[in-house]
Amino acid sequence: MTTLTIDPGEFASFQPQLDRPLDAKVRELQHQGRLHHMIFGAQLTPEVLEKIRAIADIIRAMARQRKSNDRLRQLLPHKRAMLYFTQPSTRTFLSFTAACQILGVTCNEVRDPKSSSEVKRESRMDSIRMFSSYFDVIIMRSEIAKFAECCSYMMNDLERQEMRSVPVINAGSGSDEHPTQALLDMYTILRTFDFDQSDKAKSSRLTVLREKYPDLEPSPNNKTYLFCGDIHRGRTVRSLATVLAQYSGVKLLFASPDHETLRLDSDLRERLTDAGAEVREFNSLDEDYDGQSLISQVDCLYTTRIQREHNTSDDSDELESLDLSPFQLTPERVASMKEFAPIMHPFPRDSIVNELPVEVDADPRAMYFRQARNGMWARAALLVHLFDAVDSLYMARDEVGMR
Ligand code: ASP
Repeated sequence: MTTLTIDPGEFASFQPQLDRPLDAKVRELQHQGRLHHMIFGAQLTPEVLEKIRAIADIIRAMARQRKSNDRLRQLLPHKRAMLYFTQPSTRTFLSFTAACQILGVTCNEVRDPKSSSEVKRESRMDSIRMFSSYFDVIIMRSEIAKFAECCSYMMNDLERQEMRSVPVINAGSGSDEHPTQALLDMYTILRTFDFDQSDKAKSSRLTVLREKYPDLEPSPNNKTYLFCGDIHRGRTVRSLATVLAQYSGVKLLFASPDHETLRLDSDLRERLTDAGAEVREFNSLDEDYDGQSLISQVDCLYTTRIQREHNTSDDSDELESLDLSPFQLTPERVASMKEFAPIMHPFPRDSIVNELPVEVDADPRAMYFRQARNGMWARAALLVHLFDAVDSLYMARDEVGMR
């Protein structure tokens, strides 16, 4: 990994917690059967995703009309959120801001650590604890892998000492994890493969397609997912693939340049195969898979940009000279995909490398703008879930007569 890792001095006291197996960590992040901190993709089990999906569907329906929209804003006006984003962000930052606004949550931000007491040598952990004095949730993005994880352990330690403690949401940690991107990606996948949804325009298209593909299950199960681009350093890939591996009959295929900085790493491969997924790797979108063209067999394509910001002085020249054309989603390649297969991308796309040309945008399978908007609903739903406001949401929906 080329990402900055935590400074052993600053975070040393968390080392025993960091060294535990993932499932032990995940258990510590729950609270009375709910997610408490959102740190890893692995926390998003199919059951949790169904719960959050149901909440998100209600929020999006209520947001459509003035009266119910106003009622939504009365849901959490007593809560305050700190958005601590010290790494660039457009969609995650803005969709969390919009999610807070939808629910009446007040939010504040620190985006540049130079504007905080970190310049006076305040430790990062002190900064986080100070945020928790004023706010009710900390939503944080950092280039430092595992920083958000350490913050959640600090909050749990404080809680054990009966001191003030608030939930921590990892909004992207180095090249490590981006669990709320996996949440919105899964929300998009669940909706895409739901043929019974009430969205008339969409369901009629899918109904027609379903007649053509009668074996297609209306769920993420038994599907072939292809991830393309920067597999090793793409934190969205790491989080989403971990979530998908929990579903049955899933094939997870990875297409990336054959370079150790970019291809699937052994840790993730092991995690996915241990979970029961079939995992295969490819060096081009034009390869064959089990005797047929790879791209024609994919049920969902998740393409990503090369994460150049993680290049180092040692590997930059080599990486910049790689031929990326075998991974570009040209209209010709899209033409050979299945008619229903969603094309996803966490964005931003790279306007120079052009891994996802704008010509694809008009294709009905292009899901990325809807995917980004889904981020707002899914993140609002996550806040409702974390703040245990689901019953209040159902009450609000009943009050405005939306049963
Ligand atoms: N926006 C995503 C992230 O923050 C994907 C990317 O930057 O390529 O990881």
